[in-house]
Amino acid sequence: MVMDKLGNSLQDALKKLVKSGRIDERTVNEVVKDIQRALLQSDVNVKLVMEMSKHIKERALKEEVPSGMSPREHVIRIVYQELINIIGESTDVPLKPQTIMMIGLQGSGKTTTSAKLARYFQRKGLKPAVICADTFRPGAYQQLKTLCDKLNVAFYGEEGNPDAVGIVERGLKEVQKYDVIVVDTAGRHSLESDLIVEMENIHAVAKPDYKLLVLDGAIGQQASEQARAFNESVGISGVVITKLDGTAKGGGALSAVSETNSSIAFIGVGETPNDLERFEPDRFISRLLG
Ligand code: GDP
Repeated sequence: MVMDKLGNSLQDALKKLVKSGRIDERTVNEVVKDIQRALLQSDVNVKLVMEMSKHIKERALKEEVPSGMSPREHVIRIVYQELINIIGESTDVPLKPQTIMMIGLQGSGKTTTSAKLARYFQRKGLKPAVICADTFRPGAYQQLKTLCDKLNVAFYGEEGNPDAVGIVERGLKEVQKYDVIVVDTAGRHSLESDLIVEMENIHAVAKPDYKLLVLDGAIGQQASEQARAFNESVGISGVVITKLDGTAKGGGALSAVSETNSSIAFIGVGETPNDLERFEPDRFISRLLG
């Protein structure tokens, strides 16, 4: 059954095990090489892939095949467990009053995801409100306001005012009667020190229950660096991977998760506010290995 959830490349790789009938070092090496190829193509960090390969090899050769299980099933189970070890289960997202701060670089999909999250909680029967503290990207205010208006979601922002911290302070007072408050923040084109300072200042006034790092599904090696920087400054509670409706496999998110000791909360699967799904490890693994 786990087999069905694994991608085609891995299934092909594992056929080698069927042919050989038993697990010897050469076969395991070949299978691991195929797994490595699939994961690297999905943008998973090289260091992570190497570590995982080592574990898979060791376990496949050392651990006895449990009775009633074929060598192939045994290896599948190990690969799956090693991936789950890193990815973890979906981040807990309680359906209760809370403040969520969005964090990420420009273009990652932060603003869109803020509206999607508001929609998510609205559909669950909670009253969401969104605060626009992205004072950096021109158009962010209008974009978010338009999305919220369409959804009938409460919105607070101050167009043209560059004081993001002041906006959050006033916004929080304004929307305090709402259940879930989503604070959209500004990004930059790259990790810049003023962005980190801004996140720390907003964090200090918003006192969010959750800090969600938004990552473009196509992000590769830079994911680790971003995740580390944001985690060291404000702490990351969970990751949202966007644009998984395209060809991106989202492998970079794995580095972010392992770097921050967090997990993945949601995935973005389109441009409209309804295109947000709770993260499911099984489906994600199958995509990574596909
Ligand atoms: P921000 O700069 O991080 O606030 O990024 P935006 O929210 O403005 O998103 C950047 C672009 O990515 C926009 O064109 C969005 O419509 C698009 N986008 C965001 N999330 C998704 C997604 O899950 N799927 C697709 N296809 N596009 C997305």
